[in-house]
Amino acid sequence: MSELVWERLTRHVMRCRLPFCDVTVGVVHSDGAAVVIDCGTTLTEARAVAVDVSELTGCAVTHLVLTHHHFDHVLGHPVFDGAQTFCSPEVTAALHEREWLRSDALRYGADPQEVDDALTAAVPPAVAVPYGTVELAGAVVRISHPGRGHTGHDLIAVVTDGQDTVVFCGDLVEESGEPCVDEQSDPAAWPATLQRVVAAGGESGIYVPGHGAVVDAAFVRRQAQWLAGR
Ligand SMILES: [Zn+2]
Repeated sequence: MSELVWERLTRHVMRCRLPFCDVTVGVVHSDGAAVVIDCGTTLTEARAVAVDVSELTGCAVTHLVLTHHHFDHVLGHPVFDGAQTFCSPEVTAALHEREWLRSDALRYGADPQEVDDALTAAVPPAVAVPYGTVELAGAVVRISHPGRGHTGHDLIAVVTDGQDTVVFCGDLVEESGEPCVDEQSDPAAWPATLQRVVAAGGESGIYVPGHGAVVDAAFVRRQAQWLAGR
C-alpha cells in the first residue's frame, strides 16, 4: 500500500484526495475490473494509485476517465497506458501540445523533473472518446459532458449500482475552495450545467468534487447559485 488515504463511498466506489493540489482520484471496481477517474500530476502519484487499486480491490484498471485538460487531473495517465481512456478532444490536444500543461503545472508548484517525466511518457489517446458507458459486474459508469462550465469540455462520471449513485464532478464542483473560474471557463453556462449534474445524480446522490470533501445535491445547487450571482 502507498501512503494515500482512501475514502470508501459505496461498496464499489472509493476515492482519495492527493496531497498535491487536493485533487480527487476516483475508483469504481467490481469483479476484476476497475475504472479510474483522473490520475494526478505525476507518474509517482499515479503509480501509488495503481498499487493501491491492485492491493485494495484486486482489480486491473481497464478504463480511465480524464475529466478535463488541467495538469493535476491528467499528467499521471501514462501509468494506465493499457486502459481504455475517456476524454474530450481538448485533453488529447493538450497532451500533444505539452508546453501549456508544463507551464501551468510549474506555476502551481509541481516538481519540474516529475512534470517532464510525465510529459515524456505522455501517450495521448489516438481517438478522444468523451461519452460512453462502462458496465462492471455490480455497477454501471456513465461518462458524459453535461455542458460548459469550469472549461468548455468537462466530463462527469455517474456511477450507479442499483442502490447508490455517485457523481464524479471533476472541477465543475469544488468544495475546498471557490470554483476556479478563468479564461477557459464559461461562467454564464456553468449554473445550468450544474443543474444537469444534479439531474444526473438525483437528490440522494453522492457528489464528489474535483477538489474537496464529498457534498450533496443541495451543495451543488448552492454552487450554481453562487456562480449565477457573481
Ligand atoms: Zn481544473
